[in-house]
This record gives sequence, C-alpha cells and structure tokens, in this order.
Amino acid sequence: MPESLFKQRTGRAAAPELAELDRHRDLIIDALPGYAEHGPTHASTCYVWPSAECPVGCGHCNYASPMSTDRLSRYSVARDPAPVLRLMNGMGLWKAVLSGGGEPMVEPEFCELFVNEIDSPDLAEIELITSAHFAATPQETRDRVRRLVRAWRDRAPGAAKASFTIRISLDWFHAQRIGVEPAARVIELLGEDDLRDVGCYVRSVLLDNDPTTQRLADALGGRVGPIRDYQQEIELPDGRTILVYHKNLIVEGRMNDRKLSRLPVALPTQSRADVFGRRFLDGRGKSVPARTYNGPTVKHLDGLACLVDDDGKARILEGNAPNRCADVRRTDDWADAVRFLYADPLTVFLVDNGPQDLAELLSDAFPEAASLAADTNQLYHLTEQLLGRPERRLYGTLRVLELHAAEGRIEAPAELVDRGWKLLADAGFGGAA
Ligand code: SF4
Repeated sequence: MPESLFKQRTGRAAAPELAELDRHRDLIIDALPGYAEHGPTHASTCYVWPSAECPVGCGHCNYASPMSTDRLSRYSVARDPAPVLRLMNGMGLWKAVLSGGGEPMVEPEFCELFVNEIDSPDLAEIELITSAHFAATPQETRDRVRRLVRAWRDRAPGAAKASFTIRISLDWFHAQRIGVEPAARVIELLGEDDLRDVGCYVRSVLLDNDPTTQRLADALGGRVGPIRDYQQEIELPDGRTILVYHKNLIVEGRMNDRKLSRLPVALPTQSRADVFGRRFLDGRGKSVPARTYNGPTVKHLDGLACLVDDDGKARILEGNAPNRCADVRRTDDWADAVRFLYADPLTVFLVDNGPQDLAELLSDAFPEAASLAADTNQLYHLTEQLLGRPERRLYGTLRVLELHAAEGRIEAPAELVDRGWKLLADAGFGGAA
C-alpha cells in the first residue's frame, strides 16, 4: 500500500467544478493582509516520518504493510535528509521524535543521522518510536540499537544535550504479527551497564482480555503492576521499571467494529477516543492537538506540535488544512513555513480552538461534520476528515473570516468573500450562506 488510508482519502483530486472552490479559497488567502495576532510560531514538538510503510502489518494500522516498491520512486525525507533537518533545526524544539506513519527503522541510516544531527537550543528529548521489528535476533538487536546509541553519543560538542529514548509500540495486534520477543530483546539489551542512560517505555492499546503486557513481563522475568491513568509498570529483575502507556484503539479504516467483534479482545469504554481524549483537555475544556504533547504525561505546550510526513509535507498536528501544508523541498526556513501556514484563517482558528470547534462551525451547513467529530475513535485525523472536501474548506474559511473580522483581528476582502458565498451556492451548497 503506497499511501496511508488517510492520505488516500484526503489526497483525491476534487471534481473540476469543486476545484474552483479551492482556487477561490487560495485567492482569498492571498488577498488577506496577514494576521498580526495568531498562535505561537516556534514548534515545541515535531514528529518526522521516515516512512509511511511498515513490514509488521498490524490489523488495526492504517499505514503498514506490505512494503511497496512504489515508495522507491516517491520523494522521501529519508533519502534526502538535509532539507528536513534544516527545517526542523530551525523550529525551536523541546522534543524531536522519529515516528510513523510507518516504521522509522525501515530507514535505519536516516534514524541514526537524525539522532546525531537534530538540534535546537532547548532540545531536551529525542525519541524513536518503533515496533522493534528489527530486533529479530539478539545480535541484530545489539547492532541496530548500539548504532543508534553511538550516533546519539557522537552528537557535536556544541549540540543540545538531549536525552534519547526508545519507545516501543507493542499491543495485542503487534503481538499477533511478531510476538513480544523483539520488544523484550530491546528492553533486555538496554539493561546493559553502558546503555542504562537510554530511556525506554512501551506504548500499548487499551483492550479488555489482552494478555500482551503480561506476556512481555513473562518474557523478561518481570512483574506487572495495576493500570492507573492508562499507565502501568513492569518491574524487572535487574531493578529497572518499564512504563507501559496505553492509548485508545483506532476503529476506523483497517479495523472496524465488525472485525473487532470476532476477536478475543474487546474495546473498553476507556479506550474510546471521546473518553481517552479527556486527558488532553486544556484549562478551557478544549482539546487542541496543535498545542498538546500527548505522551504518558500530557503537556500543554508553549509552542506548536508539528509533523513532517515521509513525503516532506510539514504541518501542524490537527492544525492546518490537509491540502495546504508547507514542504521541506520548497523551504528550509521554518519562519517562512510557519508564515505560510498562518496565512490561512483555518490554521489560526485550529491552533486557537482545535478541530472540535471547527466541526461545530462546519455543522451549521454540513451536519455530517458533527457526527464525524462525535463518532470518530481516532484523535489525530479529524481535521483531515472535516476539511477533506473543497466546499467544507471554503465554507470553513468564510465562517472563520467572519468571526475574526468581528473580533477585529483581520480585514476580510469583502468582494472575494461575497463571491465565495456565491460560488458555494452555485455549487449546490446554497444553505451554506
Ligand atoms: S508496527 Fe505500528 S506502523 Fe507497523 S503495522 Fe503495527 S501499528 Fe502499523
């Protein structure tokens, strides 16, 4: 599968008559004077996807295997690391993460280079999120992990003194494909004296009747504690404690309720996105992924939470229209990239308020937006779904402009706005005005 299910859904070309709506939205954005007031410009966290594919092929994954030869002909940040590193090194990061998308360690050289060269004055943490599929034998585990650690230890003397953590994805679905042994091999290796300064924890999926964490503990000769606030610990015989952090299950795309009902595991209430998502509410009761670190300990960030896809698209997590991202190939200057993103009223709105508020706004004309927001059991693709169609993008832009103009934040180009409403009406979205 060359593209993730999400990219396939949102990347489709619009019908010609609707493409006009996107062109008009672009005209409006180009005519705006620019916002004097918007969210932060630096990125506190950035996740980079070295690949959108993965050889593991878990039953709940919307990326995954089989690996496709198409990827060899596509642009990939892993095969052209300089632009993405230049962009990310200008972001002002607190935390930099190799993640997916797919499995980062299908591109081990990129991962090593990244761990060695990613930098920002306040960079405190570098993390690799992996399925540990590479840990097929003890020797392979040792070779791969030690190369990464060497790259981390060899960071330039002037570079930020960031910690290095390996986060292992291991849940019931992974275990059906590759067992718990690869994860156990990595955890065991990190108990060696000279590797104890490398952080390690496990990310799982909260399911009923799931023996995976116990199986992992058994493989390590450890003892599992109770789950509290989606977290539990495995105490190892060598004195270490490994955190297992559980998240919600995505039941959309490759996994669905029908398939799930045939499995020996079940979805507990706490694994529903609407319940799990309460962890991330800010002081105003809003969930704003663009300003949140969603790890075991939730952090509301002073900067943005960003992502760079394997194809070089730089975006804000749930924070910009899916068809208007910055691109590492066109700019290596983060200030330019973020200026481009904030030129769009939708970005300004999403970074202030989050996707649930956008759903509410859109639902006045598109009632399906409300059900999308209420029914989704995934936390980080709502914006793509809400803004997956040109009519919703233009409508959302016009509504946000109305709000921002009323607040005195921007002067909207009246003629273009009127023409936008007319185009929507002509395209059959007459109720939108
Ligand atoms: S290991 Fe992660 S990326 Fe790979 S198939 Fe499983 S969920 Fe998807």
